[in-house]
Amino acid sequence: MSNEVCVVGSVALDSVETPGGRADDQLGGSCSYFSLAAAFFAPVNMVGVVGRDFPDEKRDFLASRGINMDGLDTVDGDTFRWSGRYHENMNVRDTLDLQLNVFESFNPRLSEACRKSDFVFLANIIPSVQAGVLEQFDSPLIVGADTMDIYIDDAREDLEALLKNVDLLSINDSEAVQLAGEANVVRAARRILDMGPDTLLVKRGEYGALQFSADDIFAVPAFPLETVVDPTGAGDCFAGGLFGSLAEAGEVNRRSLRRAVVYGSVVASFAVEGFGVEGLRQVEREDVERRFREFMALTDFHTE
Ligand code: AMP
Repeated sequence: MSNEVCVVGSVALDSVETPGGRADDQLGGSCSYFSLAAAFFAPVNMVGVVGRDFPDEKRDFLASRGINMDGLDTVDGDTFRWSGRYHENMNVRDTLDLQLNVFESFNPRLSEACRKSDFVFLANIIPSVQAGVLEQFDSPLIVGADTMDIYIDDAREDLEALLKNVDLLSINDSEAVQLAGEANVVRAARRILDMGPDTLLVKRGEYGALQFSADDIFAVPAFPLETVVDPTGAGDCFAGGLFGSLAEAGEVNRRSLRRAVVYGSVVASFAVEGFGVEGLRQVEREDVERRFREFMALTDFHTE
């Protein structure tokens, strides 16, 4: 049994505009956010690809958090780029530009060490890349995945095939509705569980998250913040905190999953306090624990 997390997904340079400002060429991508979040709890192996334009300073930051980047290839070409703009209501955003670049021909071979990982997460990227990575693992304890609207539309067949081999799917509420073709989120969740996953995490931005399994529903609020600077990557940090916490617990059951969902919510709350990954830069494990305790106080209705 290894408590290592292995994650494949996008490693990006993001440009983000919010009602409060903008930031260009930020470290982003589902794999980067996930890894930074999971690394608070467990050893993390990143699997992804960047171009020769990827700055050393961004690589150094990831390495400074103890993330193993042996699986991050550097190839000729440009790094994946994404840009988005948030509305006044920051739960709503438009993608302005998306360039897969080096991801278009990405076909990684996992190292021996990665193949043995028990905690595997297929962060958001083309479903065929997710599937190509998944088939290389020996026998993971749990496989999680994320996806997004464009893949639900354009790569549904690949995605549905992948879901048969996924234990935990983490998506947002509008994606759940889109994937299930069902407007009620609880009924949508039932349909998605029928597609393969045992556990579905539905993220609802500032309204928190719902975790569904065949016989259980668990609800957590988002940590209430006065200022949200940039929600980009909150979902990936949620999943990273969740998987890191599961790996630290070393077991997957109702109790470890519920605790992991709260850690996911806590780490996501730090991520949105700055542009890009800046919200996480100064955060240490003790800060995560402090906010975890505040979170328990926030939701406790047994004591008085
Ligand atoms: P989130 O806010 O959790 O949806 O994650 C935002 C991150 O996803 C950004 O850092 C983007 O670089 C990355 N991203 C955006 N679109 C895609 C895509 N089509 N495939 C993979 N990653 C993406």
